[in-house]
Amino acid sequence: MLVFATETSCDETSICLMENSSIVEHITFSQEIHKIHGGVVPELASRSHLEKIQIMTNELFARKNIDPNEIDVFSATCGPGLIGSLLVGSTFTKSLAISFQKPFIPINHLEGHILSTSFNNDIKFPSVVLLLTGGHTQVYLMKDECNIELLGQSVDDAIGEAFDKTAKLIGLSYPGGAEIEREAMRGDENRFIIPKPLAKEKNFNFSFSGIKTHINILTKKNKIDKKFIQDLSASFQKNITEILIEKLDRGLERLNHDNIKVKSISVVGGVSNNKFIRKNLENFFSKKNIKIYYPLKEMMGDNAAMIAWACIKNYGKINSDLFFNPKPRLSV
Ligand code: ZN
Repeated sequence: MLVFATETSCDETSICLMENSSIVEHITFSQEIHKIHGGVVPELASRSHLEKIQIMTNELFARKNIDPNEIDVFSATCGPGLIGSLLVGSTFTKSLAISFQKPFIPINHLEGHILSTSFNNDIKFPSVVLLLTGGHTQVYLMKDECNIELLGQSVDDAIGEAFDKTAKLIGLSYPGGAEIEREAMRGDENRFIIPKPLAKEKNFNFSFSGIKTHINILTKKNKIDKKFIQDLSASFQKNITEILIEKLDRGLERLNHDNIKVKSISVVGGVSNNKFIRKNLENFFSKKNIKIYYPLKEMMGDNAAMIAWACIKNYGKINSDLFFNPKPRLSV
């Protein structure tokens, strides 16, 4: 089965051609325009998708010498995300499906992330999925591939948002994740004590907005020099990692109590790129004898390959639907 998929839920324009379980071509364009604004500007994002998506698609078909008539299914992210951006990608992809008289499969962006590790791993169930992105911090339980249950999520800011907001407060550029990780390498992770909201509760809910307030106070009390930026980055990164581990530890204890013996965990989404978080999660889960999976590097951030893969995994379960309206809020 040859699938053409698009992903435009936020600030990446991504297209992918996938044949069964192999990526034929995958192109992702990250919009730079938001850097000067310190965060994604929705109107600029949708305009940029509109400028790029058709050019990128023509290039892909030309490069791979593909006749679009050969494509079996067209698929696009239809939520959650920025509505203007979702409309560009889904409308473009629907029009291709209409032109070539092929099915159009709407895909939930979160399901794309959740299923991304099954592309390159043989998942052992029951499995927990830790979704760490700029828009979401969620934990899911997968008893099997078709049975996905939300166990908990952030009640306010997403983890990636906490990285971006902290970076902005200490004068680092957007997106903040890579910047903080780089500065943290030379910092003293024990210099600042940062609160850990909800960390002691035996559930999978998170809260990150209070951390931002605390860091704002620290920036008022301290001189923002190189040393401060490095130490604060290191202390923040350590704090966030400890929150994840403490929450997972308590949450797993609860699942164990309910007789659910978790065999593996998938860490997905852009924040799963952070090496410090990875190393600490790996240490924690190896002690518990729980296998840890990551997606391919190109399937970590927002990307169309995970949408194509979710389309292939769901083929036959989701009907072709040219009238599916994209939704800014959409649960799994
Ligand atoms: Zn995402």
